[in-house]
Amino acid sequence: MSQPRVFVARAIPPIGLDLLRPHFEIDLWTDPLPPSRATVLERVQGCAGILSLLTDTMDVDVMEAAGPTLRVISNLAVGVNNIDLEAAQARGIAVGHTPDVLTESTADLAFALLITAARRMGEATAAVKAGEWKTWDPLGFIGADLMGATLGVVGLGRIGRAFARRCHGGWKMKVLYSGGRPQPEDGLDDAQAVDLDTLLESSDFVSVHVPLTTKTRHLFDAKAFAKMKSSAVFVNTARGPIHDQKALYQALVSGEIAAAGLDVTDPEPMDATDPLLTLDNCIVVPHIGSGTRSSRDAMSRIAAENLIAGVLGTTLPFSPL
Ligand code: NAP
Repeated sequence: MSQPRVFVARAIPPIGLDLLRPHFEIDLWTDPLPPSRATVLERVQGCAGILSLLTDTMDVDVMEAAGPTLRVISNLAVGVNNIDLEAAQARGIAVGHTPDVLTESTADLAFALLITAARRMGEATAAVKAGEWKTWDPLGFIGADLMGATLGVVGLGRIGRAFARRCHGGWKMKVLYSGGRPQPEDGLDDAQAVDLDTLLESSDFVSVHVPLTTKTRHLFDAKAFAKMKSSAVFVNTARGPIHDQKALYQALVSGEIAAAGLDVTDPEPMDATDPLLTLDNCIVVPHIGSGTRSSRDAMSRIAAENLIAGVLGTTLPFSPL
């Protein structure tokens, strides 16, 4: 008997593919760039499962194109904003994601962006490369202090908590948060739950860790940036559309906020001509939050395990539904 076919939308770390091979006929998209919409709609036809990435929109059309054989969509990400969850549920299609295993790596990157933006390392590195390092300058590249600063975490979930633990434990920051809650093991007993406006007005650093939903789209708009301190640093490692990118540019140009560090942009990939890239006070990296060996291997393994469970009709190890 032939094996069920699954569409795997990109080359993933081998650990996941090795798990899938004994169970499935694998249709693997090997190009480094995502498959086009038309390609996805064609390749998913008759599939039992799809292993998708955050760059692959999994909507009604894809589910309809796959047809009644489709039992599971397994996302190689913790965020599932690329999947129409309601449509999947309505069709009895299981949905998998990969939480926890990328929490520490993403929190590390958020901290790297925070310290890079706060200490102006992007500008400073560029100055060295441009031959502008002429002497030790008592007035040069003065940045923000981290020790004892006030941190505002929007979305104190898995990654928000891991980030707050770093900032509170290592840099003795006072932690304010809006959304989510600390757990006893975090050592964040002094963290204060506040409304978003209070958080924006009071924080030296604001880091966002909410999922992208209709409620959080453009949560950081012109009004939000206007409420922040002019010395504040904004960090987004969650999803690009959570900030209004034009408003962020204006806030950085006008000095409404001091700096920003972004792992995520709107759209992705960011165009090389994007105005934000002309600014010294904005550092952008290309969505590499989970980009460590152990996180990516574990994501690959879990995505494969979710896919196998979904096709077999057993409970997925990790599902956002
Ligand atoms: P999580 O554990 O579900 O945490 C999300 C937190 O946000 C929860 O505490 C949730 O509170 C809170 N929240 C939801 N809506 C909110 C709102 N409107 N205002 C304030 N708080 C709100 O998820 P996670 O594992 O930390 O991941 C968070 C997000 O990070 C993911 O959804 C994904 O988009 C992004 N991410 C990015 C990367 C990257 O590579 N850059 C890697 C991993 C994840 P409740 O629980 O009370 O709803």
